Amino acid sequence: MIIALFSCDTGKKAIITAHPQIVEKPIIKDTKKAKNIIFMVGDGMGITQISSGMYSNDNKLNLERMRTIGLHKCYAYDDLITDSAAGATAFSSGIKTYNGAIGVGPDTLPVQTILEEAELRGMKTGMIATSTIDHATPASFAAHNMYRKNYEEIVLDYLNSGCEILIGGGQKSFDRREMDERNLTKEFVNKGYTVVSHVDKTISEINMTNVEKLLFYTADSSPLPVAQGRDYLKPASELSINHLNKNNDDGFFLLIEGSQIDWGGHANDANMIITEMIDFDNTIGAVLDFAEKDGNTLVIITADHETGGFAIQKGSKMNDLKTEFTSDYHTADLIPVFAFGPGEEDFNGIYENTELYHKMRAAFGWESKKKLD
Ligand SMILES: [Zn+2]
Repeated sequence: MIIALFSCDTGKKAIITAHPQIVEKPIIKDTKKAKNIIFMVGDGMGITQISSGMYSNDNKLNLERMRTIGLHKCYAYDDLITDSAAGATAFSSGIKTYNGAIGVGPDTLPVQTILEEAELRGMKTGMIATSTIDHATPASFAAHNMYRKNYEEIVLDYLNSGCEILIGGGQKSFDRREMDERNLTKEFVNKGYTVVSHVDKTISEINMTNVEKLLFYTADSSPLPVAQGRDYLKPASELSINHLNKNNDDGFFLLIEGSQIDWGGHANDANMIITEMIDFDNTIGAVLDFAEKDGNTLVIITADHETGGFAIQKGSKMNDLKTEFTSDYHTADLIPVFAFGPGEEDFNGIYENTELYHKMRAAFGWESKKKLD
């Protein structure tokens, strides 16, 4: 059979021959689905934060092992400058919302998160942060609140999240509460959690043999900066990956946040940005060691926004940077996305921050959405 197509502007004829008995195969991309997703957020980690970490670390970062790179547009629903709550809600739920919103839309109504959907689908989930665990980024994955600073309400949502791993600061929101008399440490134990405080054990002293779910308080309120001795992000990530991956045919979703890169930006403290960036990157190294061996894990690394309008100035040398800030708050810069593992190709290009949610769902092979009951 001959199909003739005529192009009207030139009058030239293009001819396509096709054999009806042969079905033309569409080009199919590698459709291997991700069993696990590890979603890593460097809060406030723009391109300069990454550059300053790399050029202060002998020109080397584990981040360079990532193969696929894209950019996202980080603005919020009603503000070109986003905060971490609106930024994380975009990632967790695929919607733009107002600054301060935790897992709720512009109408303040709850929206289902990817972590909640993973739980509904029988997967395991976890969250690790170097801030308090009730801070905006983790909160937006497992809680719903109209305002990010309602910490004691946010941790109540965690009680029913089903999360197998919760590691971060903020113990006081659990067991020295102002809004009620409840002792959430006890209530988490009753829900099957092993609850451990940094006062009693370090992460590396925890024996996970008989642990089903772990709630680990790394500090009473905010954990220390890494420059003052905080050292748990990498071991906590390794422990969590081992635990979530063990005897698990259904996969897991793990959120890891390097929370304090942002705080270095707010404080206009270049040394804090650099040390926090390198700590986050050491954790990236451990995560990639697992993902490279595993072959079924998609690792996504990004930031919610840049903080500080940070720039490396003239007179800088390798391992000796001269830096300046244009702001003590977040900026509207495009934000890099790094992807490694099954489905990584989909993260190329420039897209809205909300697309990360849809791309992660697609990588899991999830089609119709499972609704909250
Ligand atoms: Zn911030």
